[in-house]
Amino acid sequence: MSIEATPVGSETAGKPKSGLPPLPMPMERVFDGPLTQEMLLSPGKFGLGMVPDRLAPDATTSMVCGFCSTGCSLNVHLKDGQAINLSPEVDYPVNTGMACPKGWEALTPLYSEDRGTSPLLGNKGNNFKPVDWATAMDTFCERLKSIQAEHGKESVAFLGTGQMPTEELAFLGALAKFGMGMKHGDGNTRQCMATAVVAYKQSFGFDAPPYTYDDFEQSDVLVFVGANPCIAHPIMWQRVMKNPHLPKIIVIDPRHTETAASATHHLPIAPKSDMSLLYGLARILIKNDWIDRGFIDQSVNDFDAFAQFVQAFTLDRVERDSGISPDRQQEIAQLIHEGQRVSFWWTMGVNQSYQGTRTAQAIINLALITGNIGRPGTGANSITGQCNAMGSRLFSNTTSLLGGHDFGNEQHRQKVADILQIDSENIPTEASDSYDQIMEGIDEGRIRGLWVIATNPAHSWIHQERGRELLKKLDFLVVQDMYWTTETAQLADLYLPAAAWGEKEGTFINSERRFGLLKKVSRAPGRALSDFSIFQLVAHCWGVAEQFAAWTDAESVLKILAKISEGQPCDITGIKDYQMLDERGGIQWPYPATGANDDQQRRLFEDGKFYHSDQKAKLIFSEPEDMPEPTSEAYPFVLMTGRGSAAQWHTQTRTSKSTVLSRLYDVDPFVEIHPDDAQLLGLTHEQLVTVESARGKMTAKARITPTVGRNCVFMPMHYEDVNQLTLGHFDPYSRQPSYKDCAVKIATV
Ligand code: SF4
Repeated sequence: MSIEATPVGSETAGKPKSGLPPLPMPMERVFDGPLTQEMLLSPGKFGLGMVPDRLAPDATTSMVCGFCSTGCSLNVHLKDGQAINLSPEVDYPVNTGMACPKGWEALTPLYSEDRGTSPLLGNKGNNFKPVDWATAMDTFCERLKSIQAEHGKESVAFLGTGQMPTEELAFLGALAKFGMGMKHGDGNTRQCMATAVVAYKQSFGFDAPPYTYDDFEQSDVLVFVGANPCIAHPIMWQRVMKNPHLPKIIVIDPRHTETAASATHHLPIAPKSDMSLLYGLARILIKNDWIDRGFIDQSVNDFDAFAQFVQAFTLDRVERDSGISPDRQQEIAQLIHEGQRVSFWWTMGVNQSYQGTRTAQAIINLALITGNIGRPGTGANSITGQCNAMGSRLFSNTTSLLGGHDFGNEQHRQKVADILQIDSENIPTEASDSYDQIMEGIDEGRIRGLWVIATNPAHSWIHQERGRELLKKLDFLVVQDMYWTTETAQLADLYLPAAAWGEKEGTFINSERRFGLLKKVSRAPGRALSDFSIFQLVAHCWGVAEQFAAWTDAESVLKILAKISEGQPCDITGIKDYQMLDERGGIQWPYPATGANDDQQRRLFEDGKFYHSDQKAKLIFSEPEDMPEPTSEAYPFVLMTGRGSAAQWHTQTRTSKSTVLSRLYDVDPFVEIHPDDAQLLGLTHEQLVTVESARGKMTAKARITPTVGRNCVFMPMHYEDVNQLTLGHFDPYSRQPSYKDCAVKIATV
């Protein structure tokens, strides 16, 4: 993709071409034009990186990290009005003075040369020309409105992200659906957390991770299923390492991961046999009466049917399915029985599965039947992925109506409409199509315009080649991102330059439900604007600014969201303002205006009451299914993908900008393969091989290691080509893509 020289000059935002009233002047602009090497070296001299007036020029302030869902707090140090360095905050209840490599390097991606500094207008990524915001907004509205006029309002959709602050997510969802008439919009949280959302909703009655991070230190038995916190959530893992109770740590994972290497027990199951093993453990616990009958009677439905169902998961069957011996199954069940405070944790190894929802519920069922929930050191605990996945889950207006409400519930729609002072007819009566259905909608011609904000589907979407073909079929693709060089931006017709973490305000909600504060400690380069400001411009140009007159800044939106949350399990009416969040070290939901205690660590379900109408949890289960693409003579290996390093984040859009982080991981793709398989193929360590599925082929270095079992290989997801291999299949309940099971073959180059 090429880009023509950006004209340096004053912003012409005040003169839109389509006869609209003058645009509100974007507020962050301090410099118009391209970044030069000199500016990158001395950003302060050119007004880049200057802090807003409210911070003293040499202040140190704290804010939450913008990568993962741990939600660490970082002290950002300013000199002469510039953020020059950072260090982890010692007193914050999440990280207590620790940060992983990504956190330490959080400022570096802001100063990359490929930051977008101007809107760009082009044609499928070709012939990009810099334009002013007025032209960009005119084009945005004209093109999307004309698509809607010709094909219906539902023909335009959006894809958002768990990387945006809660207030921006809410603004996007409300603007798109209540203002612009869209019905369909989803987020990249579908790729990582949808399974946990559906599992919790069905089992507990609300999307409610019950734990607090203190539980890592309180458990005497911790069971990790499909989770590798040692590198995926390193600060959480440090909390486990600080546990003073000499806990038993059980890791259920096909790979001998870094976490498994530190565990007391590792169960190297066959890929996708976790459901069978978990049901087998339930059978042993029930058979031996190692269950909490008092808790079940008081708080759990469907126990008898569940007890009957798991009878089929005998020691022999589970051994056949998973490869775990009967003795080992008995040993693990006994450890769970003997534990006084047992916690169960899962993440992408469970979520990114074609049967992820039921697998997550098989974990939840173990916690429920043993009464390991609602007490310190217990819980059925999904660890979230992105910094604001939880914000997206509750407030993005995609799968649920703002504040965890239900689009299908008339009373919910009226409540939200009344608070927002809009006509309830503006609110769709059902949830959006899911991400994969939006993508398929492009192929079917139902979706013709797409607005992608701060996510990179051309890299991350499963079965990448098809994903890219679909994006190319769109009549109009808008990409809003901090970089104009992402794989998705390179397919765009219109690129909108966005401010990054550290260049705007808002809140993130971390894995333990804690609202943490994000601050503006740096100015966005050139004409880049915060997503919030871009949404204000869109509202103005679309002609719906009146509807969002109260949405003046991020803090005002949090107050609106607090009102909407009233009476919901995620009630935050007690959170008054940003200052309160700042002073309190973040606040976990729920935090209602009355009745909330002020403890720093709060967990759910301490009273044994859940969110279903009868206040009981449900045991939900179903028969495991075979892998949709089994291995064959042609493709004899199961490919598992996952996080490869604590130093990289997802598609590396930001982390690749750091030379420090780049030194901490392999820049070239590698594939882990078992020594016996390598010998059969005649491979040597680090030899270049091809990895090929029925969909694509890539080269990688063979890493010969017993960390994977026979007939399995593993590749980190961070490399661009990996999703050329993956198979587009989905969990039927959550529509989450199943990234960790497809058949491949390995060959020498
Ligand atoms: Fe940031 Fe997550 Fe690392 Fe903490 S663990 S510093 S939140 S990336």
